[in-house]
Amino acid sequence: MMNCVRCLAVTTALVMVAAAAPLAQQAPREPVRSIARLTGDLYRVQNNDHYTVFLVTPAGIILADPINVELATWLEGELTRRFPNSPVRYVLYSHHHQDHASGAALFNDTAELIGHENFNAGLEASQAQDPKRYGGVVPVESTYSGRRTVTLGGRTVNLIHPGRTPHASDFTVLHFPAERVVVGVDFMAVKMVPGTVMLANGASIQEYIDAVRAVEALDVDTVSPGHGPTGTKADLVAFRQYYERLQERVRAGIAKGQTVEQLQAAKIMDEFKDWIEYDEDNDVNIANAYKTLSAQKR
Ligand SMILES: [Zn+2]
Ligand SMILES: [Zn+2]
Repeated sequence: MMNCVRCLAVTTALVMVAAAAPLAQQAPREPVRSIARLTGDLYRVQNNDHYTVFLVTPAGIILADPINVELATWLEGELTRRFPNSPVRYVLYSHHHQDHASGAALFNDTAELIGHENFNAGLEASQAQDPKRYGGVVPVESTYSGRRTVTLGGRTVNLIHPGRTPHASDFTVLHFPAERVVVGVDFMAVKMVPGTVMLANGASIQEYIDAVRAVEALDVDTVSPGHGPTGTKADLVAFRQYYERLQERVRAGIAKGQTVEQLQAAKIMDEFKDWIEYDEDNDVNIANAYKTLSAQKR
């Protein structure tokens, strides 16, 4: 038996598997998940690089994004264990993108799904383009346009549409007035350079500046983004200033006849060099801002 060619192949394969085991074990990474109290009855949920929040009230739970089917399944179990007899009554979507909005079906028997009035149109367009990835996003059952208040068990959440931005036309920012917290997903970040999905070629920088300014007007202490760490109002101001300075400095460079490469080499955004994703995204943002602002000039 041991002299057959196939057995030899199997033996060799086993040796190779054994040698590769330490690497292979790392491959399917366990998701990093946690639930941490932000303040009072407001909790922040982590699923790898994605974050959401939920508020526990005497009449049930208000959940923001369900993130994805796997996280929603895990979270449903955690909520049932930690807060028995406290069903999820609302799912408040930040926007329709599948990596934040999938999985609400897990809660839909008890929860009403609410989003901005542009949510379902955005979802339909995305589902037509990418039916597989968008299959897990359930449309909203109730919408609003500028601003809406959801009340449950004597607790309040304000849904605020911060205005049009290039990343999504259906953004909802969640304002928890008693907790003094604002939640914005793919809309704002703390000490993190905006990624190229937010500041792509052709994206209006001024629209972001205006939208972030609208959120700055809220009376809050804590800013909780959909990616990265939480911060304070000052971090939100700094995030808006990144856009403002980028726009200002790239525009000035264009006026002086400088090239993209010259602006990148001049390190025009150097005071943000310690921010997350600076190395990955800052030069690309300069290039995209350059294209956008040059096109506007013409
Ligand atoms: Zn998004
Ligand atoms: Zn995102």
